Amino acid sequence: MSYAAFYQQSIQNPSAFWDEQARLIDWHKPYQQVLDTSQPPFAKWFVGGETNLCYNAVDRWVATQPDKAALIAISTETNTEKVYSFAELHQEVQRMAAIMLSLGVQRGDRVLIYMPMIAEAAFAMLACARIGAVHSVVFGGFASKSLATRIDDAKPVLVVSADAGMRGGKAVPYKPLLNDAIELAEHKPAHVLIVNRGLDAMTLVAGRDVDYAALRAQHMQTPVPVTWLESNEMSYVLYTSGTTGKPKGVQRDVGGYAVALAASMKHIYCGNAGETYFATSDIGWVVGHSYIVYGPLIAGMATIMYEGTPIRPDAGIWWSIVEKYKVTRMFSAPTAIRVLKKHPPELMKKYDLSSLKALYLAGEPLDETTSSWIATELGVPIIDNYWQTETGWPILSVARAIENTPTRLGSPGVAMYGYNVQIINEMTGAECGPNEKGVVAIRGPLPPGCMQTVYGDDQRFVSTYWANFAHEQLYSTFDWGIKDEDGYYFILGRTDDVINVAGHRLGTREIEESISSHPQISEVAVVGVEDKLKGQVAVAFATLKHPDAATTPEQKQALEAEVMAVVDKQLGAVARPSRVYFVGMLPKTRSGKLLRRSIQAICEGRDAGDLTTIEDPHSLAQIKDVVGQKV
Ligand code: AMP
Repeated sequence: MSYAAFYQQSIQNPSAFWDEQARLIDWHKPYQQVLDTSQPPFAKWFVGGETNLCYNAVDRWVATQPDKAALIAISTETNTEKVYSFAELHQEVQRMAAIMLSLGVQRGDRVLIYMPMIAEAAFAMLACARIGAVHSVVFGGFASKSLATRIDDAKPVLVVSADAGMRGGKAVPYKPLLNDAIELAEHKPAHVLIVNRGLDAMTLVAGRDVDYAALRAQHMQTPVPVTWLESNEMSYVLYTSGTTGKPKGVQRDVGGYAVALAASMKHIYCGNAGETYFATSDIGWVVGHSYIVYGPLIAGMATIMYEGTPIRPDAGIWWSIVEKYKVTRMFSAPTAIRVLKKHPPELMKKYDLSSLKALYLAGEPLDETTSSWIATELGVPIIDNYWQTETGWPILSVARAIENTPTRLGSPGVAMYGYNVQIINEMTGAECGPNEKGVVAIRGPLPPGCMQTVYGDDQRFVSTYWANFAHEQLYSTFDWGIKDEDGYYFILGRTDDVINVAGHRLGTREIEESISSHPQISEVAVVGVEDKLKGQVAVAFATLKHPDAATTPEQKQALEAEVMAVVDKQLGAVARPSRVYFVGMLPKTRSGKLLRRSIQAICEGRDAGDLTTIEDPHSLAQIKDVVGQKV
């Protein structure tokens, strides 16, 4: 079948199409209805069906391939490497699940996971899935305030964490940040389960904190049966940034997600049971959920969990892993490839990479130079894929298992099956013609695997995502894009204030709020500025309550360092702006709206755009001035 025909089936008759795909997973009880769209824009998939993500990822493979590798945990930070077979993973997940049950976790309860890239993090996610608890993984690079916001929204009964992670050979303590976060949060989790790696001295809080190793020893043989869940029950909440300072909890179901992942593993990632998949992301991001933990395991593949950087001990490390574990499919982000490009390609050539069939890149725009370089060095297809935390799996790519659709440089590809993608004129709400720029939108119902709602806030789900266009209720991706005559899409940046730093999605509002908490800061604007390595970096412009306090370059430098330290402490180094400039005033419209786009344009050496509504043109001159200065 041609891909065009496959795609058309998915759009014209989604129920029949997904009914077929649903056979890729095991169901405990068949569903009565494939799709319920009685309350648009909400979509319910596989209504009445009962299944379980952990069962599909682990148990069903224990039956057919118990001794095959399932989870390969590699840390180049602690120099440890351990392979868990499906049978061993099954055991470990049950032990973790038994611990959770002993701590009072019940079906539907939230469990917050704040962990480095260690096997226990995957055990914890799968254990939640097994007992019907809802996990909310928070990226380990986030600091106490980010964590506190998420604790207050998710209201977890349990937090699973570790003493520390490690990066670049240095321990990165988690426990003190977690202690601070719980202190800051209004909601207090009943228990904190700590995996003590012996990396950072810490004390357990009596009555609250419990030691994983001690509890595991008590549950070595405790069987924990799978809890069968209705397809539309919640599997997890994953927070992501938007235009407000308050992160949105992307809520996902069970059955739809399992089917969507199984289908994507087959059609897009072309993975086969018994092979090895290596996604270099982190469990704190959506790629980690979909393509480190659930997707590969649901497909019966071994998955690699990697703690470390791409260049330590040298830039050959990832390729040595590919050789050793005969990785067939690899998933990374353009930034990582740009980092590797700075190192001698011989480090890659040293290894036998003949097992590798394709490299998938996502999370940020893939520039042509990076794409061509890595394609030449590796000699395998480089497949861009565009998607979001909200969708859980690719919106745009090529489905090579259906048809060998050629890729096009600069384009993430064509619309994936299930996604009725439209380019919409922002002003008129009309569909754009070929090569005409508009907002990338999706006509509902969204396919299985996409977010069900914003956790605890259906209204926010509708008003944020589904109320952006005149005439029709369409889902907005908040990305600009164009579609060419042949159906290839090109992504042209965000329509909102979300920025993308090294593939990490950050909200400028959150960074602004953090900077504003510094006592000297009066007002601040944060914008994303193009960067050769990271795609974008955050740059801040602030006004001071007492401008006289920082007039000399030394005073400004000292204040800049202080502001950065505030962001580090509250949000984490991942959100730290690359520069903080101090100005006398910020450019605003006469109605008081910050002209972030104009500031961004100036930083990137572009025209500042339409300034007819600007309150005071001097404000822009000041921005130009400070950006032009070398400090
Ligand atoms: P996240 O939710 O963190 O996955 O970030 C999603 C956003 O990252 C999208 O809305 C895009 O702005 C950007 N993005 C993700 N993948 C791609 C890609 N392949 N090409 C261009 N932009 C991308």
